[in-house]
Amino acid sequence: MDLFDQGEGLNRQRIAALQLTRLKTTLEWAARAPMYASRISQAGLNNIQSLEEFKRLPFTTKDDLRGHYPYGLVVTDHSKLVRMHASSGTTGSPTAIHYTQADIDNWAALMARCMYMVGIRNSDVFQNTSGYGLFTGGLGIHYGAERLGCLTSPAGAGNTRRQLKLIRDFNVNVIHIIPSYALYLGETLRQEKIDPKEFPVRIAIIGAEPHTEEARARIEELLGCRCYNSYGMSEMNGPGVAFECLEQNGLHVWEDAYIVEVVDRHTQAPVPDGEFGELVMTTLNREGMPVLRYRTGDITRILPGPCPCGREHVRIDRITGRADDMIILKGVNIYPMQIEQVLLSFEEIGQNYLIEIEGSQMGQEVLRVKAEVGENCASPEERANLQKALTRRLKDEILITPEVKLMDPESLPKKDGKAVRVVDMRKDIKSEATENKDKDAVRPYAW
Ligand code: AMP
Ligand code: ZN
Repeated sequence: MDLFDQGEGLNRQRIAALQLTRLKTTLEWAARAPMYASRISQAGLNNIQSLEEFKRLPFTTKDDLRGHYPYGLVVTDHSKLVRMHASSGTTGSPTAIHYTQADIDNWAALMARCMYMVGIRNSDVFQNTSGYGLFTGGLGIHYGAERLGCLTSPAGAGNTRRQLKLIRDFNVNVIHIIPSYALYLGETLRQEKIDPKEFPVRIAIIGAEPHTEEARARIEELLGCRCYNSYGMSEMNGPGVAFECLEQNGLHVWEDAYIVEVVDRHTQAPVPDGEFGELVMTTLNREGMPVLRYRTGDITRILPGPCPCGREHVRIDRITGRADDMIILKGVNIYPMQIEQVLLSFEEIGQNYLIEIEGSQMGQEVLRVKAEVGENCASPEERANLQKALTRRLKDEILITPEVKLMDPESLPKKDGKAVRVVDMRKDIKSEATENKDKDAVRPYAW
């Protein structure tokens, strides 16, 4: 195994020992924030002796972070802080995360480790197509690429023509790209009749939003590259938390920097390896603003058994979605990714889709799946057949018959950042009916 640093090659025993040492320090740091001080002492963790005891600490929730916005959980002197980021607010109002120089350095090293793991080296030319600014997918990945020594282009989001020009002019062979945008970029390439074999990109780091194996396969084909899933969130620094190795089968979580738990969403009890639940994470080397037992809202499972690559850091499965993305319709639970999986398995379907849920005051509910067709599906008969086949397959998957609406190519709205895949209009009805509307629940906070 060719490793970026020592931490990457730790065995289970050394990971456990290092975690306990770092956890002790992290608890000392965290106890400088009043919220954590009282929780730590109430849980009797002032002198922790085992990782098991740590599970007595209550979870940190998004609401805790919101409640302590903007500086309430900073535990170092403010003069030591050098950077802040804020959650893009996929749901609700913002949360802020603060970093010291050491935090930035550790984060960059973790990110560089991820990139090195999939074969990226200092001779590579890297383009970051993520938005910069408060979103960690910009500077987070950027610093990792520079740490690795790549020639790094901070292209930023959007302007597809310029992205393509930069990639081709500078022979960019590694990109970081949000999967929904990768599908769009790939489609543009196809329309411009650029042969993926002639396209210089050989590795795409894809992440920041849920996506399926089907989406990965499409992106790999459209761009002629290998895609590696990158997972992270601002609360745990940003990207660089977990990353696929060359096996493309689960994401290694860097356990020298994070403690991973998966818990049942309802009972909050730990679930056995292999079972799905909510991911809970703890920072182990963040001095500016430690976050302990954070309920990420992301659904995944720990993949049991060793990874053939030889790394012993635990692997999580791809995120199937956020707990709050789950659609409950007619008593059935549906994840948007179940719908994506079906849609993208049809080659006649194009690269963009939108799920709409409509309700009426009378309680009738409709699930509408709008999907763009590819250019090869133009005739009315072809569309009618496709619509029937899709409806049937979706019904088999989600147990509800959706209304399938096939759309012309490029007719659905697209965004530079994370895609909005679901529009739930039932919430508007509910909120109209209540005096005290929770605006955040209706209209996601946007920076
Ligand atoms: P933010 O902190 O605003 O960047 O958002 C972090 C959230 O983005 C995570 O909690 C996940 O819900 C989502 N996310 C990030 N990376 C991935 C990924 N590789 N797969 C699925 N969801 C992801
Ligand atoms: Zn591996």
